[in-house]
Amino acid sequence: MESQGSDVRRIWLMAMLRLAAWLGVAAVVGAIFGAITLALLIALSIYTAGHLLYAYQLHRWLARPRTQPRDGFGVWQEIYTELYRLKQRNRRRKKRLKSIVAEFQASTAALPDGAVVIDDRGRIVWFNTAAAALLALRAGQDNGQRIVNLLRHPRFAQFLADAGGTGAQLEVPSPVNDTDTLVLRVVPYGNGQRLLIARDISEQKRLESTRRDFVANASHELRTPLTVLRGYLEMMTEEAAEDGDLVRWQKPIHEMDAQSARMARIIDSLLRLARLESEGLAQAQETIDMAALVRRGVAELESGAGHEHVFVVEVDDTLGLFGRPGEIESVISNLLFNAVRYTPSGGQVTARWSADRGGAVFEVIDDGPGIAAEHLPRLTERFYRVDAGRSAADGGTGLGLAIVKHSLEHHEAELSVDSQLGQGSVFRCVFPSQRLVSRDVA
Ligand code: ADP
Repeated sequence: MESQGSDVRRIWLMAMLRLAAWLGVAAVVGAIFGAITLALLIALSIYTAGHLLYAYQLHRWLARPRTQPRDGFGVWQEIYTELYRLKQRNRRRKKRLKSIVAEFQASTAALPDGAVVIDDRGRIVWFNTAAAALLALRAGQDNGQRIVNLLRHPRFAQFLADAGGTGAQLEVPSPVNDTDTLVLRVVPYGNGQRLLIARDISEQKRLESTRRDFVANASHELRTPLTVLRGYLEMMTEEAAEDGDLVRWQKPIHEMDAQSARMARIIDSLLRLARLESEGLAQAQETIDMAALVRRGVAELESGAGHEHVFVVEVDDTLGLFGRPGEIESVISNLLFNAVRYTPSGGQVTARWSADRGGAVFEVIDDGPGIAAEHLPRLTERFYRVDAGRSAADGGTGLGLAIVKHSLEHHEAELSVDSQLGQGSVFRCVFPSQRLVSRDVA
């Protein structure tokens, strides 16, 4: 850079020296003929005309870049050379950019996911081949069209307006074939532009449904033989108690009875989960008296044998919930039952139903052993137990919290768990405002 700068300085210095020499010669010639002013005027005119000619050539070349630039003289030669170099550099850069764009287009065209670029007014700017196939977009014809006019799913417009980098996704039936399912995601970028990504998840959905059906069918098939076994075991338990010869079988028969009862609970829970998975959002038709349900759940546990806990109930009677009473009841009883099961006798269990930040929250708080942080994210997985032996001995199935999670999802609610080892646990179900109704309590 430094040397280029000094080159430029040198060239212009030379140009000025040349001008001085030219004027000097003119002045001498003028002096000889006794007309210095006229000679200087003529010399300056020739000098200006020369520059005008080169400036004209430059202008012509800039206007029609395909023509070859003429060789200049003095500073013009340098200016021409610099411009020519600049042009060559730009040409190379353009070529490189073109090949990057071509590569980008080829790679996005090969993507299995549909990608649509949408401008700040919701119009389609560009889309790849997969988007054309998945969303039934027509190349050329649909560019510039508003995407909401082409993707007419009732929840899509709202989703597009809301999805501001939240990572939210929307499942919609495919506009090409409504037995297929697409998942849509929106990534905002630049000046109000958004990238809509569409992925075909039909195969995944079909696998999920096959798995669900298999579990439901297997559970259903196991139910009948188990009922028969349990019937005989019940009979044998009674006979063993009365018949002296059978007394040595009393213990194993009792154990078999307990284990078969546990199997029946697991099968019932699996069937319930399969049902929950295949059902959609609970439509808001029934108003549930949450306060009464919570009180009833606690009362059932209080009257149950074997546990000596201190129960605290704090419920807001004016706060009702829209939803399916059976599912909400199972949420309440599962969480209360767990708190009682895992908290040693004498511990305290609090059930609370209250308004919270626009929505409402149902909490079950215990002062039991608590749960270590590494287990918390996995608690709602099927059959996940912190201590499998302990859970089985207490009659647990490992499915309770999975049922809670699914039931809550049907009510647009979320389960969160706060717990630390030795500090007790808080299971919190957060319901959104649209699920709530205020009840009159006269
Ligand atoms: P389970 O039938 O084994 O109780 P759940 O799905 O209801 O299955 O619970 C999963 C696991 O979460 C339990 O095995 C237990 O380890 C843990 N857990 C649930 N509730 C509590 C609680 N209140 N205190 C401590 N651990 C709990």
